[in-house]
Amino acid sequence: MRQLITFGLLIVSLLIGHAQVIDVHLHSYSNEDYQRIGGAPHMGIESPKNGDLHLKQTIQEMDKNNIQFAVISGWDFKSVEKYVKADPRFIPGYMDGQTIMPLSEFEQLVMTGKIKVFGEVSAQYFGRTLNDSIYAPYLKICEKYDIPVGVHTGAGSPMRPFMKCCSNFRISLGDPYLIEDVLVRYPKLRVYLMHGGEVHFEHTIRMMTMYTNLYIDISALLWVEPFVLDYGVRLLKLAKQHSEIDRVMFGSDQMAWPGAISKSIEVLNSQSFLTDTDKKMILYDNARTFFKLK
Ligand SMILES: [Zn+2]
Repeated sequence: MRQLITFGLLIVSLLIGHAQVIDVHLHSYSNEDYQRIGGAPHMGIESPKNGDLHLKQTIQEMDKNNIQFAVISGWDFKSVEKYVKADPRFIPGYMDGQTIMPLSEFEQLVMTGKIKVFGEVSAQYFGRTLNDSIYAPYLKICEKYDIPVGVHTGAGSPMRPFMKCCSNFRISLGDPYLIEDVLVRYPKLRVYLMHGGEVHFEHTIRMMTMYTNLYIDISALLWVEPFVLDYGVRLLKLAKQHSEIDRVMFGSDQMAWPGAISKSIEVLNSQSFLTDTDKKMILYDNARTFFKLK
């Protein structure tokens, strides 16, 4: 039945001309850890009441927006497996925490295709950057197996350093310049800056002009807060001005607000300085190239 509905929605999308989309930044939740984030509306967008409903509504949003693939990671790797099992369009990512899973386990999961992306790398939340020596052996594995790496850059939600998890969080640690050594040390590694560096967006663009294999996503920028949208628009304008649109990828980072997928696409499509070709590249083509999707 579900397949029939998905097929029906696909036909509707084709008929009304919804372009294909890849969302390179989503998160999965178990019912337990969903309670830490979900339930209350944000920016006028409803939040499902539990993790199961979050999964269901995320899939509905993916159908509605003709999303072909979505990179997903979560605090609990089991929730990633749950989402992947529910819908094959989810590409499993691994998100680190205060600690990182043992190296041998990581390599095993990479080899068996259970981890296809190392990200979201949460270094900044724990006072680290991707250049911290703790990541070196994992990056070597990613380079060896050609696994893309997505790292959180920019800032975070208000008063983050005062939360129990993240006393070492600093905005300065989200500066893309801090991972320059990684790009030099692992020239074949596929890296993307999640949230496009947000407040550090000028550094992002300079890094992209220097390192022509560096990609970014614009996740959270288009919906999470009005001042963040301001950074997002300035980032996109600068990327356009310096001919870097071909390495900008769409991501929603809807977290516990599935409707933020539609909202982000709507906001992107309303930017008049971007051509239809630019939008198509951001929404689909660039991610297909970066993730080598068929
Ligand atoms: Zn993030």
